[in-house]
Amino acid sequence: MTHSILIVDDDSAIKESVEEYLTILNYNVKSALSAKEALNILDSFKADVVLTDIMMQGMDGLELTRKIKESYDIDVMVMTGYSAEYSYEEAVQAGASDFIFKPFRFEELDLRIKRVLREAEFKKERSILLQKLEKLAITDALTGLYNSRHFFTQIKTEIKRYNRYSRALSLLILDIDFFKNYNDSWGHLEGDKVLMEIGKTINSCMRSMDTAYRYGGEEFAILLPETKLQKACVVGARIKDNISSQIFKPEPDITRSITVSIGATELINGEDFRSFIRRTDKALYKSKDSGRNKLTYIISNSD
Ligand code: GH3
Ligand code: MG
Ligand code: MG
Repeated sequence: MTHSILIVDDDSAIKESVEEYLTILNYNVKSALSAKEALNILDSFKADVVLTDIMMQGMDGLELTRKIKESYDIDVMVMTGYSAEYSYEEAVQAGASDFIFKPFRFEELDLRIKRVLREAEFKKERSILLQKLEKLAITDALTGLYNSRHFFTQIKTEIKRYNRYSRALSLLILDIDFFKNYNDSWGHLEGDKVLMEIGKTINSCMRSMDTAYRYGGEEFAILLPETKLQKACVVGARIKDNISSQIFKPEPDITRSITVSIGATELINGEDFRSFIRRTDKALYKSKDSGRNKLTYIISNSD
């Protein structure tokens, strides 16, 4: 991969010789005679490293470094003469990744550029890995929905948002009916397939701002921000009907359908997440008690 370097030096002899050398080494090089010109070039040139002189007419190299670090994710290396009144600490504080004294040998410059590029690569890999880990930590491996840990984080966040902006917040909790029977009859692996399919169905019935979680082994929760109870019940009913119309084949010649029971509630002013969940659970158990394959809502804590 060819890396791009922008050289900034108001001494045109130095600028040109560094440019020539780095071009020979196959870097994609551009150069500027002032900090201002360098910033203009960066508007359209995606540099991996900016190599800048410190002492320059107009804006100096430290100011340029600060400006670059404010707006871009680019490494800056600064060059300075031994006699200059700038220190290594100042350069690092401004955001520079490395510091090289003039006159330098080109071989040393190349090695330092390569080290800065390598560190940038490590940093990028580390941040991608971290993102993957963060996603993994909140994802349920079987269904790909969010896990219960994330549910408890999000429900608290959504309640805070509700308190700040007074927007409605609804919750659905869904439990598979007679799932133990299904597992006992067809085995745990077949049961897992049902859980995966239900995850997909829930996903396909939600709106973009809703989030779904595998809340327990065979229980799911759906948080619906900015949604009144009536609308949440419409989403819940759609999920319930889509699941019950699905055909499962635990064995080649055997077809089965699955039903779910759902509880629905809308957050009451002043309510905490425990009471919100408890009320939704109560609605779910009313659905179970009244024959399953049902959606029940509870409006207030006295219901
Ligand atoms: P109900 O209609 O009252 O909800 O009956 P149920 O049989 O679904 O409820 P119960 O709580 O008695 O059993 C839940 C079952 O869910 C027991 C367990 O085998 C199954 N289950 C829980 N987690 C998993 C899982 O990760 N995979 C599979 N395959 N089954 C699970
Ligand atoms: Mg259950
Ligand atoms: Mg169940």
